[in-house]
Amino acid sequence: MSTSVFDAVIVGGGGAGLSAAIYTARANLSTLLLERLMPGGQIASTDLVENYPGFPEGILGPEIARRMESQAVKCGARIGYEDVKRILPQENSHFIIETAANRYQTRAVILAMGSSFRMLGLPNEKELIGKGVSYCATCDGAFFKGKELVVVGGGDSALQEGIFLTKFASRVSIVHRRDKLRASPVLQERARSNVKIHFIWDTVVDKIEGSGKVESVTLRNVKSQVTENLKTDGVFVFIGHDPNSGLVKGLVEIDNHGYVLADNGYKTSVPGIFAAGEVRRGSVRQLIAACGEGCGAALALQNYLENPQTGFAEQRRLL
Ligand code: NAP
Repeated sequence: MSTSVFDAVIVGGGGAGLSAAIYTARANLSTLLLERLMPGGQIASTDLVENYPGFPEGILGPEIARRMESQAVKCGARIGYEDVKRILPQENSHFIIETAANRYQTRAVILAMGSSFRMLGLPNEKELIGKGVSYCATCDGAFFKGKELVVVGGGDSALQEGIFLTKFASRVSIVHRRDKLRASPVLQERARSNVKIHFIWDTVVDKIEGSGKVESVTLRNVKSQVTENLKTDGVFVFIGHDPNSGLVKGLVEIDNHGYVLADNGYKTSVPGIFAAGEVRRGSVRQLIAACGEGCGAALALQNYLENPQTGFAEQRRLL
């Protein structure tokens, strides 16, 4: 096992983590960003990003992720594709970061692990992943040319991804548990005016049926309790996210839903550990917000390294 010492280790390579890396590396802090999957986090599996300033025509999610990664590297950050297993505070106020293959030492940490899509929790949901059940329209949409699909959820993701799926599918049924959408008005208008989209209100998916691949779903109207079987070739689930905070349970304070508690200065309950983006309670869950939080956390980390004592005192006062 090798041991290296960094000024900053950033855990997570989504918008928050990559922005933090750009800022810490540009401030001449030796920076290591560790990401378990691919750069960009959730944005990498999004089709077109239309609300990030500077791209009036929109930009593809994987493309902006790739650009952020190359910008972080160009600024001097090192990026490692490794899953962080443990963060261990040391007596000298440094931290040891353990991955399966390596052990790093750092003076400060930014938690930017983001969040993961929520599953419906149905019995055969997991075994039908890749066989009709999906959580990523950009990744899997093209497999459903001319097919009929079910999308579950009523938020921005369900509508944005549902609209995207109409590029391929002949019909997209959006199944929502209420009769009011949570999604923003602009997406609602686009979905409602799309002839391939049809809404099924006040309804939940009770079962996903199919042997070897999705063939149908059992839907239940939550008001009448009437059930019906709907033939479908695929089920795309967009019902929100849960924070990826398992790594820091017992290390920093987290709330009942698993979100990391951090103050307005992105400081967690442990001096030297900061949090940014969707893993943090109060994040507004937009790419631009995640990037802004990454910047804020990086500046706070820089200040902490320059004035660790002030940082501690201020932190105690704020907690
Ligand atoms: P979300 O806003 O939390 O919406 C989740 C949806 O799933 C809600 O409609 C919710 O119903 C439904 N739901 C939750 N649990 C369910 C269950 N067990 N069974 C059935 N339905 C369930 O999540 P999101 O759409 O992924 O969006 C997350 C964040 O990203 C939001 O802040 C959103 O604005 C942002 N986002 C923005 C864009 C964009 O700007 N273009 C695109 C994607 C996402 P209820 O409404 O009844 O609670």
